[in-house]
Amino acid sequence: MDDGGQHMNAPSRPTTASPTPDGAREVLAECFGYQSFRPGQEEVISAVLAGRDALAVMPTGAGKSACYQIPAALLGRQGLTIVVSPLISLMGDQVRGLKEAGIRGSYLNSTLTQRQQGVVMARALAGWYDLMYVAPERLAEPHFAEFAAQAHVPLVAVDEAHCISQWGQDFRPAYRRIASFVDHLPKRPPVVALTATATQRVRDDVVRLLGLRDPQTVVTGFDRPSLTLASFELTPRRREAFVVDFCLSHPDQSGIVYALTRKAVDRLAEALRSEGVSVVSYHAGYDATDRTAAQRAFVSDDARVMVATNAFGMGIDKSDVRFVLNCGMPQTLEEYYQEAGRAGRDGEPATCMLLWCRNDIRTCHYFIDNAEFAPELSEEECHTLTRHRESLLGAMIGYATSDGCLHQRVLTYFGQAGQGDVGACDACSVCLGQRAADYVGGHALRGAIERPTKRANPGTLASDEDEALFQRLRRLRKELADEAGVPPYVVFSDATLRGMATARPRTRDELLQVSGVGKTKLRRYGDEFLSEIRSA
Ligand code: ADP
Repeated sequence: MDDGGQHMNAPSRPTTASPTPDGAREVLAECFGYQSFRPGQEEVISAVLAGRDALAVMPTGAGKSACYQIPAALLGRQGLTIVVSPLISLMGDQVRGLKEAGIRGSYLNSTLTQRQQGVVMARALAGWYDLMYVAPERLAEPHFAEFAAQAHVPLVAVDEAHCISQWGQDFRPAYRRIASFVDHLPKRPPVVALTATATQRVRDDVVRLLGLRDPQTVVTGFDRPSLTLASFELTPRRREAFVVDFCLSHPDQSGIVYALTRKAVDRLAEALRSEGVSVVSYHAGYDATDRTAAQRAFVSDDARVMVATNAFGMGIDKSDVRFVLNCGMPQTLEEYYQEAGRAGRDGEPATCMLLWCRNDIRTCHYFIDNAEFAPELSEEECHTLTRHRESLLGAMIGYATSDGCLHQRVLTYFGQAGQGDVGACDACSVCLGQRAADYVGGHALRGAIERPTKRANPGTLASDEDEALFQRLRRLRKELADEAGVPPYVVFSDATLRGMATARPRTRDELLQVSGVGKTKLRRYGDEFLSEIRSA
């Protein structure tokens, strides 16, 4: 059961590494099992450890969490890092993931009883935890402010920081309270804000409304070369058949299918289910229990495909999603890229497909025209917002109908214009000259296949033996995860299992060399994986 971090029945030891860049590398290796930082991580961590505010703008999957988790671990002896996040339903998994890595996490939210909350706070004050996840609404409670005043907060991290801006997709008014919460702490700690939303307007809002002081701003490249991007116009009926075909012809892969409306989600899920695809669905029409169950089933690999509206997925931490199919056009390229970016977070190849039809564009206009605005906005501000949204939709349509490289389109949109020409990238439907039919094995679109895909079956390993071992390791991971009551990716990511399948380590030392294997996990799971590899 989720209990906010109470599963620790004795205070575990904080890391002994020093709060310096060297210490950060130590924690990266020991807890996360990675030998080097990803772009941007070290800069953000060093700034924060030097007491400076920071803004990290990195695409989904770039490794933003480590930017606050590592400092939190290093500062754990000084006090409790507060992490503001809108993602209540994920906090339990995040904390379990940290525990697996040997970082002392906790969370405080409305899923806990009053008594549990009291226990978590008391333990936090007794120094049990390095960090605590809280929802933004919590900050307004006098009781919590009092608690935070005593917790010697050495760092405040604001995840999904774009939620502070009404120009972004996920405006959360409660985010506006963060600045005053921070200012009222006995000693203002550094604040690190993290977001995957890169437009200048949102970025400016984040800095201004969070009251960041001379932040070290790190914007990493938005390109995700391991993602194959595709955009196809299909009639509604053909695209439903396509989604079913796609899922059937990629039977070993986990994927997300986004649809625009609840009705479309229910219909697609049913269509997949009736073809025998293991599928769950998620939208705001389901009650919280059903949503949590669906999310859990997907993250635990009990269901292979998730069909959902855009209500699903912010912050979802499943690193081995191999495809994201958008069955319908989102209203902004930003939203699209966030959703698509949930594929391939482990860095392995993945496919992101936009399947759109003319009607979607009408639906998007309808959503924009009928959007509700915050009551405090003037009529003029509402007009400005509507115009702004129309122009964002324009960019989305531009992407969908692009006859140039799709990767390039995305980069240009995010202000990172490049020199790519059509035909230059090896990972988009335009440059590869692909059609929808290239992606499916048969069924409804059979006969339409004209050319083989250049990147057939993403994620395939070099040899059959490696692939067989990889599948065995995945089964072992699932067993161990179920036993421990954690999602499989928390045990090891696909990328790490692939590393094991190729390197075939024989000893603990060799296993430790595989990227993603840290000392904590080596102790916990090492022997079982070694014996599986040896018996292969
Ligand atoms: P984001 O929050 O930016 O979407 P996450 O923090 O969830 O991304 O990280 C995505 C994946 O990258 C996770 O599986 C994480 O373990 C992995 N990761 C993070 N830092 C590194 C690193 N330095 N080297 C290799 N993998 C990393």
